[in-house]
Amino acid sequence: MQLAQRIASEITARRDDLVALAQDLIRIPTLNPPGRHYREICDYLAERLLHQGFEVELIRAHDAPGDCEAYPRWNMVARREGAGPGECVHFNGHHDVVEVGHGWTRDPFGAEIEGDRIYGRGACDMKGGIAAAVIAAEAFIAACPDYRGAIEISATADEESGGYGGVAYLAAQGRFDPTRVQHVIIPEPLHKDQICLGHRGVWWAEIETHGRIAHGSMPFLGDSAVRHMGAVLAEMEERLFPLLASKHTAMPVIPEGARSSTLNINSIHGGEPEPEAGSTALPAPCVPDRCRIVIDRRFLIEEEIGAVKSEITDLMERVRARRPGFSYEIRDLFEVQPTMTERDAPVVRSTAAAIEAVLGREAAYVVSPGTYDQKHIDRIGRLKNCIAYGPGLLTLAHQPDEWIGIQDMADSARVMALVLAELLAPKT
Ligand SMILES: [Zn+2]
Repeated sequence: MQLAQRIASEITARRDDLVALAQDLIRIPTLNPPGRHYREICDYLAERLLHQGFEVELIRAHDAPGDCEAYPRWNMVARREGAGPGECVHFNGHHDVVEVGHGWTRDPFGAEIEGDRIYGRGACDMKGGIAAAVIAAEAFIAACPDYRGAIEISATADEESGGYGGVAYLAAQGRFDPTRVQHVIIPEPLHKDQICLGHRGVWWAEIETHGRIAHGSMPFLGDSAVRHMGAVLAEMEERLFPLLASKHTAMPVIPEGARSSTLNINSIHGGEPEPEAGSTALPAPCVPDRCRIVIDRRFLIEEEIGAVKSEITDLMERVRARRPGFSYEIRDLFEVQPTMTERDAPVVRSTAAAIEAVLGREAAYVVSPGTYDQKHIDRIGRLKNCIAYGPGLLTLAHQPDEWIGIQDMADSARVMALVLAELLAPKT
């Protein structure tokens, strides 16, 4: 029997196991924040992979944001050497899930099955993907026990809060160094027929305008920081938003609205602190001497971060030129460079061929509007041969009644096993 056929039958034989594995993972409520049950889920996967001949390490991200005795940031890395020298294929999944939120009609940690769906928080983002990757590796090992190189599987912390206690920590230790790992697949829910090549860039900043406090009955004795900020917002509406909308990218970002540069104003605050919830006290009459906004600018691979920042400085300077007494500060909060793996990178080509073999249609190439752990693999790990590929619908992520399709998991497990075959099977 051909290897591809053996893989298909090994996957089929593991269907119940795949479902049970996804259910077990969903039933461990790895909520982030605060970072619950990380050790438990790492132990669970470690135990399973040890029995499959993997060497397993549990790594705590000491001193990462949020790491503490109550909520230690645990990660699991498993590696299984093949029968001879070759390359290493690494599957990386984050094991944390976001809060449950309102609106559920199912038990968020019950992993109930109805028809082809398993319901639960994290079902699609991304415990279904982790289960599919584990089954893919196990099926491939059974079908091709004399494979070359190595297979790695990691389950990592805190992707939902930036990945600093997870992939960033491991990457800083050299675990995604191109000499150790050559191919990375992150089974995030981008759907079984799509290959996600990367993501747009991010710049968060706080902009503050200054004023002078005075009695609210005599505002002419002060200087309103809120009115200054109003001028900034008007300038954004008139010139910045149209400019951003006119910038288009060659990146195949989904949804299509995100193929331009975008800016969100996350928050605005000026004047006195907000009263506490339930307070019935009246505010005091003051001219606001501070006003702050937080901006979230998403930028394209065609843009330089320096130019992105200058756009804002130039805007502030235009406002300053026409408003006496106008002064401001800009504080950087966070930035991530855009990244996009080349379409002819080996992991992309292998995955595209596997999708076509399993689903009978061409793979679609997409780029994520927001970032995920690929940023750390690219920037800290210096590994470019990385994609996100996995089962599930991104639109269900972080929603009530999140679910994963059982057939989608099985199909994408077969795709991932075929990728292993393409990259690691001995050439005959
Ligand atoms: Zn995710």
